Amino acid sequence: MSKPLKYVPTEREQGFLDSVQNAKYNREITKGIEKFLSGDVPQDMLSFYSKDELDALVSLEGSERDVQKRMPVKITRHYFEQAKNSVPMQVLIKASPKETFDLDGAEDPGKQMDYSPVEGLIHKYELGLIYVASTCSAHCRFCYREELIAKKEVTRPDGTVAPKGLAQIHEIVPYIKEHNRLVAENGGRHPETGREKLREILMSGGDPMVLGNKNIAQWLSALAEAGIENIRIGTKELAFYPDRFDDAFMDMLDKFHKIYPEISLRVMIHFNHPDEFLQKDIEGNYIDHPGGGLKWLENTHTAVKRLRSRNWINIDNQAPIIKDINNDADALRIMQRELKRNGVENHYFFCGRDIVGHKAFNVPIEEAWRILNESQKGLSGVEAHARLSITHYKGKTEVAAVTNEAIPGLPGAENGVVIFKLLRSGADAPDRCKVTIVGRNPEAIWFSGYDDRVLYDEAELYAMYGIDLKNDIKAA
Ligand code: SF4
Repeated sequence: MSKPLKYVPTEREQGFLDSVQNAKYNREITKGIEKFLSGDVPQDMLSFYSKDELDALVSLEGSERDVQKRMPVKITRHYFEQAKNSVPMQVLIKASPKETFDLDGAEDPGKQMDYSPVEGLIHKYELGLIYVASTCSAHCRFCYREELIAKKEVTRPDGTVAPKGLAQIHEIVPYIKEHNRLVAENGGRHPETGREKLREILMSGGDPMVLGNKNIAQWLSALAEAGIENIRIGTKELAFYPDRFDDAFMDMLDKFHKIYPEISLRVMIHFNHPDEFLQKDIEGNYIDHPGGGLKWLENTHTAVKRLRSRNWINIDNQAPIIKDINNDADALRIMQRELKRNGVENHYFFCGRDIVGHKAFNVPIEEAWRILNESQKGLSGVEAHARLSITHYKGKTEVAAVTNEAIPGLPGAENGVVIFKLLRSGADAPDRCKVTIVGRNPEAIWFSGYDDRVLYDEAELYAMYGIDLKNDIKAA
């Protein structure tokens, strides 16, 4: 398929785009540790890093352990205001030498580039992910998109090495149309890959909400014209800069909905900790709301209400469980309860990835499962929908259970087992809901931590790498 050089909007699309206004935002962003070093920050930010912390960071500059090369420092005024009184938020946003103490790990443990038929697109299921921005309003230190944000080079399946590029409308739209045409002609499955219609796209990055309204509008309408039925926007802007969800943005969404009423929007938000959206008193306690529940930050609450008041928009929260940030059952319980009470679904919590420069943030898999399970005690069924997910090469996998007792008669299960359940798998999802059972390893942070203790592998999470069952009885 030859690549078009330019995308030409349809008449309907152009009418919508002509009606959209950009707005100006002042996130009052502070970028780079140098600003803190030179004192070129507002007075009340001067003590955000201590002298010792700054010295330690500077001493790593230029070395392979340079923390800023791993992920540039960036914080908004809004986030700073909350982080001043929150240790977990400080861990999330402040650079630390710990980040590069251990640089072990894979560049791309989920091998996402294998699923990238067009630059900036990951096409694994009936859902595709597109990278539309290479930055966020602030930078989480634990980010595993750091290769995109810090513009690192990645190796592609054909062996070439280059920084990850962003998706381009003139390449993505023809790809979707062609894929869906072949699927339709072939009775609902792609003739080669077995995939279904590409009907859902997640706009990701970086954070799409750093783009102007016109740019976001271009993506929304182009995807709608290409036949996408559900569009997701993955964003942490509700935590970094909730004022971005202003009248101009909502007006753009309303116009989009008027012209494309059949398209649904899911705003996939990212709160790690309730400190990011709840008010605290001077003693650091959350404040009861006289009407029930807890008091939210006014602008965050307004943003959520604006989105929720449109019945074609859903909001789902998903977040990794990260050491010293939210490996805290009480915090996660409060977060899940307050989000659901305000109309935000609790979708996934994620295990960390075995990725380069991520060891300082990893919570072992079994510990993350225990924390999430503990946090959901005392929640109602609808508040406790979130599952713990870990992304295998084959697809999204749930850490479904961790048992404590030995399983009688099963060698390798003396300390209990972990049960993984494959939630998604690429192509035509032949292995969906199949399970893999491994003997416990409390230190494991990734699938590889169980390579020597696989007991049952219906989902073939290990067999696909030639890893045998621990108790395999080989045929004579
Ligand atoms: S919001 Fe997401 S993409 Fe942006 S820095 Fe944080 S983890 Fe990375």
